[in-house]
Amino acid sequence: MPIKIMPRKEPPLLKTLPRLIARLPKDSPHIKKLEQRLYRVRAGYSGELEIDQYIATLEVPTSMTVLTDIQLSHSPGMTFQIDTLILTEKFILIIDVKNITDKLRFKTNPNQLEQESKTGEVRRMDCPLEQLHTHIHNLQNWLAKSKFQVDIIGRVLLSNPNAHVIEAPPNAPIIYKKGLPVLLRNQSRKPTIHNPKLIKRIEELIRKNRIDYDPFPLCNYFSIDSDSLKRGQLCTKCGETMQYVNHKQRRCIECGITAPNNYRETLIDYFTLINNSISNRECRDFLQLKNKDAANYAMKSLPLNKTGNSVATRYVWPKNFLL
Ligand SMILES: [Zn+2]
Repeated sequence: MPIKIMPRKEPPLLKTLPRLIARLPKDSPHIKKLEQRLYRVRAGYSGELEIDQYIATLEVPTSMTVLTDIQLSHSPGMTFQIDTLILTEKFILIIDVKNITDKLRFKTNPNQLEQESKTGEVRRMDCPLEQLHTHIHNLQNWLAKSKFQVDIIGRVLLSNPNAHVIEAPPNAPIIYKKGLPVLLRNQSRKPTIHNPKLIKRIEELIRKNRIDYDPFPLCNYFSIDSDSLKRGQLCTKCGETMQYVNHKQRRCIECGITAPNNYRETLIDYFTLINNSISNRECRDFLQLKNKDAANYAMKSLPLNKTGNSVATRYVWPKNFLL
């Protein structure tokens, strides 16, 4: 039966976190934490992509719609996110893909996941089982507000074959990747409980209301003082600020290389890291330009939206265009 999978968007942190790290001074206490975050974002995304591709190859006896990366709001300012949601006439399933390795102990009282590496180092994290229950609860409540009373099941899926569950509560909804086809087949054998029209309406409702995950600007999001960031265009070789030579190029005093002025990249860094709008003065300061005209010229490298007049003029970043 047909499987329809919504293409998964690349997490916005994947490209922008390396830019934040590059602009922090080398001795910044934030770097280590941000690098760990980037590692987790990258691993998470690749695990989810792998499972999407795997699902696409499966033979299942019921048609399935797979929605990916759904973020919904359950009250003003409060959102919840579901990585993978499978909608069928027989069942509705949330899959929380965890691309983690090593020995895993799902502890209770308090709920926590312990990951023990080969060297015996133990890392503790939020319990994926508890997160899964919260996701199910949130989605069920969210759908109930639109008069959809449905049962939702969920599984934590360990996508990495080097993950070994050593300890978990009895009947914990955890599966390995190879268990997914069995689960889908077993669930598909159950009687039809949802009218196809209802499933379609749920899909449309979710698609219509999903919001984009927006962590920008990152300095606010990670509570980092934006004044501590390196300004100007960064050298692609050593990462230091390059000096303005003329309107065509910049030069790095540290390693001597020259590069064309890259206003676009430097401005995108400003918008994603510091503020979603910029004034002519802020542009001159951040891009290290000599005068107003040079800043106006630089800002033309992006299709920015102008707001305000004369000294209050600001240029606003059209997010969707860039990410
Ligand atoms: Zn350099």
